[in-house]
Order: sequence, then C-alpha cells, then structure tokens
Amino acid sequence: MVQKFVKYGSDVSAGTYICADCGYKYSNQSKKSIPPCPYLDKKPHSKHGWYIVSGQGDAAEDPYPGN
Ligand SMILES: [Zn+2]
Repeated sequence: MVQKFVKYGSDVSAGTYICADCGYKYSNQSKKSIPPCPYLDKKPHSKHGWYIVSGQGDAAEDPYPGN
C-alpha cells in the first residue's frame, strides 16, 4: 500500500505521522497544520514532509517521546 505523504504546514487531522526523512513519530492531537520535524536542524532532511500512519492500528514501531 502507498503511504500518504504531506508536506510541512499541510492541513491535517489528528493522527499519527512519521517523518519521511528521519522516521520520527509524531502524534498530532489537535493541530490543523502539521509542523516541521523537530529534528529538521539536527539531521539531514530532503523530503520535508510526513507519512500518515494513523488508522493502521497500534503496530509496534520505535517508541516515541511524549509531548
Ligand atoms: Zn525528521
């Protein structure tokens, strides 16, 4: 299946997203536009966007830090 990709700043709904570049997992609770990855300045990023992973259940991924 194809993962949906959204650029930074895109309008999104609440859900879980994974950085297309570094794999950081971001849980979006209420924001209407998705922010840049927090590691944008720390690691190389070329895609500048997120993959939408919400709706796929609780598949085991890397643990992510809480907000
Ligand atoms: Zn990232």
